[in-house]
Amino acid sequence: MKISEPAEEILEKMWVFLEDEDDKLIPVNEYDKDALRELESLMLIEYEGDKVQLTSEGFEESKKIIRRHRLAEKLLHDVLGMSGEDMETAACNFEHIMEGGVEDSICTVLFHPEECPHGNPIPPCECLEEARKSAAEVKKVLEKSILPLTKLKNGQSGKIVYIKSAKRENLDTVLAMGLLPGRKVEVIRTSPSHVFQMEHTQIAVDREIAESIYIGELN
Ligand SMILES: [Zn+2]
Ligand SMILES: [Zn+2]
Repeated sequence: MKISEPAEEILEKMWVFLEDEDDKLIPVNEYDKDALRELESLMLIEYEGDKVQLTSEGFEESKKIIRRHRLAEKLLHDVLGMSGEDMETAACNFEHIMEGGVEDSICTVLFHPEECPHGNPIPPCECLEEARKSAAEVKKVLEKSILPLTKLKNGQSGKIVYIKSAKRENLDTVLAMGLLPGRKVEVIRTSPSHVFQMEHTQIAVDREIAESIYIGELN
């Protein structure tokens, strides 16, 4: 979305107002009328009498601008050693030219800072959210594809990935039977005990032991 600099400055001030005040309605009599008209026509703000409210899109746009501004401050402060008004002015210029992923690169370079040099929160970056999301996805897929032996059906096969048991003696039993990670197993029977084929041997284990053997690469 292309927004003029004066309109972006207003969105930025609105965000700060919302951070400071417990009111959703923002007084706008001091703001530039043209810029307000622009924001209204882009449907980023809505009038309520003589005050305005950010629309949900307006909220998202403000968040982006504030994020750029505070990341710019952080960069100018931490990397270039600037502070005070110089930093403010530079940040205000800089924020308008940070576009299309530049702020995410800066965010990464600065190790995803949570606060600007003034101690104000930097809206969390999508880069980090994305990374967290995909890590959670990977975990979910892994969890689904690695199951304890007790969850396998007759005829299902796979490879032992790891052994996990709270009881030391169970681990010893499992290892003594040669049930090592990487070994291929195929379930033959699930009751009364768990019987499975491993290479040329059939092995029977009780439920507690079977629960401690985790299988992946399921077929
Ligand atoms: Zn600014
Ligand atoms: Zn700041």
